[in-house]
Amino acid sequence: MALELRPNCEYCDKDLPPDAAEARICTFECTFCADCVERYLSNVCPNCGGGFAPRPIRPAREWRPGLSLTKRPASIKRVGLSYSREDIAAFVARIMTVPPEKR
Ligand SMILES: [Zn+2]
Ligand SMILES: [Zn+2]
Repeated sequence: MALELRPNCEYCDKDLPPDAAEARICTFECTFCADCVERYLSNVCPNCGGGFAPRPIRPAREWRPGLSLTKRPASIKRVGLSYSREDIAAFVARIMTVPPEKR
């Protein structure tokens, strides 16, 4: 299993190409830009309630056989949220004070 490397921020729909240093993911690979994680999500994933980490960058070069961005390309399927902005704000407010390791 490899990360899907989803192509966009689920909150603002900004493009997050596989080499984007600002991509953040939760353990389920819900994907957002660093800006939305900080400004709107307060490190709370609106889908699962978990915290975020920077998404690692898959090597463009095939240092080992079969393991490169060309051989294992990023997903092109854009993902969006199924919750309203109001719902997300309330969800985040409820969880943001609980540290990720206690959620
Ligand atoms: Zn965003
Ligand atoms: Zn999540």
